[in-house]
Amino acid sequence: MNNHHTYQPATMLVHQAMDRDPHTGASAVPIYQASTYHHTAGESGDYDYARSGNPSRQNVEETIAMLEGGVQGFAYSSGMAAIGSALALLHSGDHLIVPSDLYGGTYRYVTAILPDQGINASFVDTSDINAIAAALRPNTRGILLETPSNPLFTIADIRAVAELARSKGILTFIDNTFMTPLLQRPLDLGIDVVIHSATKFLGGHSDLLAGLVTTADPHLAKLLKRFQNSFGAVLAPFDSFLLARGMKTLKLRLECAQRNAMELAQRLQQHPQVARVMYPGLPDFAARSRHESQASGAGAVLAFDLKNESLIKPFLSRLQLPIIAPSLGGVETIVTHCWTMSHAAIPAAVKDTMGITPTLMRLSAGIEDMEDLWQDLDRSLA
Ligand SMILES: *Cc1c(COP(=O)(O)O)cnc(C)c1O
Repeated sequence: MNNHHTYQPATMLVHQAMDRDPHTGASAVPIYQASTYHHTAGESGDYDYARSGNPSRQNVEETIAMLEGGVQGFAYSSGMAAIGSALALLHSGDHLIVPSDLYGGTYRYVTAILPDQGINASFVDTSDINAIAAALRPNTRGILLETPSNPLFTIADIRAVAELARSKGILTFIDNTFMTPLLQRPLDLGIDVVIHSATKFLGGHSDLLAGLVTTADPHLAKLLKRFQNSFGAVLAPFDSFLLARGMKTLKLRLECAQRNAMELAQRLQQHPQVARVMYPGLPDFAARSRHESQASGAGAVLAFDLKNESLIKPFLSRLQLPIIAPSLGGVETIVTHCWTMSHAAIPAAVKDTMGITPTLMRLSAGIEDMEDLWQDLDRSLA
């Protein structure tokens, strides 16, 4: 790694780990579209086979490590590959604590895959440290956080959870997708492993699937490297290039999207067809001070409930600007009907107990003109 880790995040994002192609000076790290590398005189050089490492991927891996304060980064073919690979640090017989309103894909992984591998999870309100303490078992080896959680925006106290876990030798994981390293740096707060779906804000253009993991612990990094190389769900060279390109403008995109989200949250709160708005930046957001103690911004994603179910269909059919889809973090605004899209993998009865209602909409603010967005939303809610 070069000396770029001493720069501020905006500079790191633009210049990244490699800055430019070390061999030619090209302004972008090229797409090293090769599966293997010549072993001069039979000796392996810096790279030997592309699953183990290649310069295009290495650039984004070292960049996420720099941004999060990790010792090494890992890039995967999707956020789910990143989550599965990070959770491979657990062993058969281990118990895992996860948030009760966790991301739908992670819910599926934790309920459909991990139990067969001998790893069982408890779903806990991770915003309540006492609930976490009460859920601990002698074999609890991992706690996974999402804060703010998705889509209900519960806020876990990252420092308190990390401290509790550390005192018991439990590994802590955090899915930092919603905040990005620009707004929240969990390794500084004591978390062991940070995970991103780089499909979202880091890639930023809704044209890429990618996942990233980093840790500040050299031993964990060694294990993660071994898993990544053994499992092989690595980020391809072209996708690494797209991710590197997207990350360069993260700060500008996120600042603009966050401004739009704040304005939309306030206007939606006043709207007669909207029952409630959840956004960590709102003055009356219950866990606002906790969120602000560990993050430097409210992010660009909010959720709101329509007043009744008869509004869902007209709303979704009238909307013109937003993509209506299960994703977030793009330059375009994205509206998600959580019940049928992002949280479709979760049974209806479970969604009910989680507090995910059929009328719940998640909105990931893009960087469009605010008044165009509002006109479209307001007209669709009429
Ligand atoms: C999208 C998402 C994931 C999964 O990432 P993919 O890139 O779609 O595999 C995980 N966690 C959160 C919070 C997400 O939003």
